Amino acid sequence: GDSYDEECDYLFKAVLIGDSAVGKSNLLSRFSKDEFRLDSKPTIGVEFAYRNIRVGEKLIKAQIWDTAGQERFRAITSSYYRGALGALLVYDITRRATFNNVAKWLHELREFGNSDMVVVLVGNKSDLGNSREVDEGEGKNLAEAEGLCFMETSALENKNVEEAFLIMISKIHEITS
Ligand code: GDP
Ligand code: MG
Repeated sequence: GDSYDEECDYLFKAVLIGDSAVGKSNLLSRFSKDEFRLDSKPTIGVEFAYRNIRVGEKLIKAQIWDTAGQERFRAITSSYYRGALGALLVYDITRRATFNNVAKWLHELREFGNSDMVVVLVGNKSDLGNSREVDEGEGKNLAEAEGLCFMETSALENKNVEEAFLIMISKIHEITS
């Protein structure tokens, strides 16, 4: 089952990072409640969502933190990263600037995050192939060079969203068990 109160074996914290409007909040709402929003309002109020995942015999409660819009003002603080075992670092395949900023986000992760954090680089909006500015191979190469997992996703089409979160969660599980 998926209920909030179910007994879990592990609780993991993970964070979403990346430039504004790359689709972080929609990836999270897809993963946590299978919802997508077409309007581009920044996240307000909601700071995290939960989902319970079964990995083998164990029930894992994943607590995923969203930025609540602070990334617009570069106001993400060390408390956001505190205790996080994983991160989805998201860029938008239709905006090269968001890919160029991945280096900045990695720098911040390495400054504030756990050294053994599991990081998945996510190229979101794969449904917008006609407006693509970043090739899939570029994402793959960067991920390989930086020792990250990689996936292109579409929160709109619900493509690879589950997979991106599950890769992160199962890797965290491998490391911590
Ligand atoms: P955030 O600022 O990173 O949290 O981004 P949001 O989740 O608020 O999304 C920003 C905008 O991009 C919104 O208008 C979303 O509807 C849109 N968006 C998010 N994910 C996708 C996607 O996979 N495909 C398309 N076409 N649009 C998306
Ligand atoms: Mg948001």
